[in-house]
Amino acid sequence: MRKVQKGDRVKVIAGNDKGKEGEVLSVDPKNNRVVVENVNFRLKHQGRTQQQKEPGIIEREEPIDISNVMPICPSCNEPTRIGFDEVAGDKVRVCKKCEGVLE
Ligand SMILES: [Zn+2]
Repeated sequence: MRKVQKGDRVKVIAGNDKGKEGEVLSVDPKNNRVVVENVNFRLKHQGRTQQQKEPGIIEREEPIDISNVMPICPSCNEPTRIGFDEVAGDKVRVCKKCEGVLE
């Protein structure tokens, strides 16, 4: 189990997008990178495709380092450090501030 998972709300704590918040769209555990909604937008040139009549520029999120984000605890609504605990034999993530369980 990782500290940051797909679907988490996270706050960016370092880098160009410091202070932004968004949902984790994907996690790349191998490279310790995450893609966060509305964070690290980069313009990409895209050629003409079947679906798209106009060739042009699309905006999309690029991965950022996982250490640059902090999960936002749904209980206390704050970016927080994550600990691990066991509930009924299942490993769960807990907020180190309020000890609430992150789903
Ligand atoms: Zn909390």
